[in-house]
Amino acid sequence: MIELKNVSKYYTNNGVVTLGLRNINLKLNQGEIVAITGDSGSGKSTLLNVITAVDTYEEGEIYFEGNETSYFNQNDMDTFRKNYVSFIFQNYNIIDSYTVLENVMLPLLLAGKNHEEARKEAKEIIDKVGLSKRIKHKGTKLSGGEKQRCVIARALASDSMILACDEPTGNLDSQTGEEIIRLIQEVAKDKLVLIVTHNYNQVSSIATRRIKIADGEVVEDIHLQEQQEVEENNTMSLEERKVKKSTYLKLALQNVLSTPKKTIFSITVFMVISFITLILFLMMLERSYETYSDANHNYNLQAEDRMIVYRMDHQALDEEILNKVKYDEIYYNAFYEETKLTIACDPQGNYPISLDVCFSEHKIKNKLIQGTMPQNENEYYLVIPEQYKNGYYFDFLSILQKNIGIKKYHKYEYEIIGKITGIGWSKDVEYSYLISYGEISSDVKQLVIQSMQKNSYCVLEDGPSLEMSFVASNRNAIVLPKKYEGKEVEVHHYLNSIYEYTLDFDFEYNEEYVRPYLFYDEENPILPELNSVYEAVLYTKNVKEAKAFLEKQGYNVSVPMDQKVKASVINLAILYLFLALAIMALVCLYFISYVILSRVYASKNKDYGVLRSLGMVKKQLGRIVILEVLATGFIASILSFIVFVIVYNTTTDIFTMGDFMNFGIVLLYFVIMLIFSYFIAKRFNRRLYKFSVNTTMKGEVARND
Ligand code: ADP
Ligand code: MG
Repeated sequence: MIELKNVSKYYTNNGVVTLGLRNINLKLNQGEIVAITGDSGSGKSTLLNVITAVDTYEEGEIYFEGNETSYFNQNDMDTFRKNYVSFIFQNYNIIDSYTVLENVMLPLLLAGKNHEEARKEAKEIIDKVGLSKRIKHKGTKLSGGEKQRCVIARALASDSMILACDEPTGNLDSQTGEEIIRLIQEVAKDKLVLIVTHNYNQVSSIATRRIKIADGEVVEDIHLQEQQEVEENNTMSLEERKVKKSTYLKLALQNVLSTPKKTIFSITVFMVISFITLILFLMMLERSYETYSDANHNYNLQAEDRMIVYRMDHQALDEEILNKVKYDEIYYNAFYEETKLTIACDPQGNYPISLDVCFSEHKIKNKLIQGTMPQNENEYYLVIPEQYKNGYYFDFLSILQKNIGIKKYHKYEYEIIGKITGIGWSKDVEYSYLISYGEISSDVKQLVIQSMQKNSYCVLEDGPSLEMSFVASNRNAIVLPKKYEGKEVEVHHYLNSIYEYTLDFDFEYNEEYVRPYLFYDEENPILPELNSVYEAVLYTKNVKEAKAFLEKQGYNVSVPMDQKVKASVINLAILYLFLALAIMALVCLYFISYVILSRVYASKNKDYGVLRSLGMVKKQLGRIVILEVLATGFIASILSFIVFVIVYNTTTDIFTMGDFMNFGIVLLYFVIMLIFSYFIAKRFNRRLYKFSVNTTMKGEVARND
């Protein structure tokens, strides 16, 4: 059946060549039980490994059923073992984390049987070796003898022609050893059984032939008994039997579930990675969410045809000059259009909703969501920024047709100004705008100015400028900390940095106040008379032309749209920078997590080695390893995602996840995590094959690497 002709093997370690086998000539037949004996280090295991295609050889030829095998590549060797060889080793090569049943089912599954068939057959075989009572026990829970029975059961399940045993009783007491030897004989039937042992006595009762090795050479070859006549056939099949697709998934899941501690550790590592990925995602998305107008928050309305005119010295504008420009619309004292006020919807209701808005008389280009344009005075139309239209913490539609009031500055009272008749969205606005039916009422203007008064500060002579807080009171007074008593103090008032005006206040000094306060008479607030124009908004189709003309007159002209464009370019650059950083971070994470996870997976090397020894070829084992890592990564990604959503939604109350995470982005996250796991799995898989099957199987990789 097997013939070795002048087979020699050398080991090369760090340039040092040692002899493994020299000039071996042997003919081994089916039905033989061959005892291979010799001193420790004589080459017994090496011979067994070479015969059974575990290891390669350098010289000579080996024929299997008359077919030469020296051309075998790694895959051929794996397949050859699967089809023809079963192993019994001293250190019980079962998968410890699997149950007896799962271990015995393995060769049946690898032979292409489905789970049910494999289970049924495995049970019968386990019965034959007397392990039925232990069928659900994991490998770790078995005694040495029971493990060896399990291995023998698995060999029976493989139904291979060659049974290769390397010191099968080496770790057993003599009585158990004898039982195992007898069991081997029982299952031997017409197989070729090779038993490597340094204790010949134990196998003498069953051996039909004795081969003695010394220094890699056969020094004795005795036929002890007449061997059974077995028909020879001259075929060798290296066909890979197809393993069921579902088997890969089941084995991968079995691996994940049977090693809970390792799995939990791997999941934790993956979770950290997923979490960092999610945070990177969020940072990028928040970045892209702030689309524009970081440049100047005062310019909230960024329509193409809009420009703002003012003077650097805070003096009034000359209306005649403004009127010389070709304009479609002109809007005097335009800070009404740029100042945010808090409005409350349904101020009489129990739960008023408040919202920051600007007021405008201009018909901002917008798309209608619901309602109609205002038809009467005291009616308003609300234009919200585009990015709010899909989900915001606030339900805009709920305020339709409800009364709205303006919150009085520094008071928890509202002055009702009308109701909202329609809602639309626009790309041009940074804040929500309330568009009035006609000209904004003087009451509203008054409230705007009142609200702007807070832009006040006092300047200490030769000293710093101090911001002042406003306190509603029944008198006008500036209250300063006592240490400023006797010092010259100037008080400046601005309306939105545009118009500067002076006020008469009494000065008071008080130890109690840490910071300056400005009391103002709430009944008669001193407001500036705005008879002149300090800021104007022009709507014109000739923005460039008008700008050039007005600048020639010494006016400052701002075109908010230009700032929007500039801001979006800056944002885009930042976004790409973030993207690059995120990719770099993921690459770093990949290496860090690989180092950590490779420790975990190295400890599984023995299990993978067992699968290989059962004849799983590289591609097949690769599928299992990859599925296993993918499953772990996937579970971790889901867990991370859930934790992330919970943490995010409990710590921020303004934005909900929906603003950032749509289906596509969630999908992208999972795809990235799967690709990430896939690369890690690929790397493990490659590493598994850096070592030969016998070193991985014996679990030596974990220690050596
Ligand atoms: P036995 O099984 O008879 O105790 P082995 O077949 O394991 O002996 O080893 C035979 C000889 O080959 C020994 O000298 C051993 O040191 C050497 N050897 C075995 N495996 C390797 C290896 N992977 N690299 C280098 N030398 C090896
Ligand atoms: Mg040995």
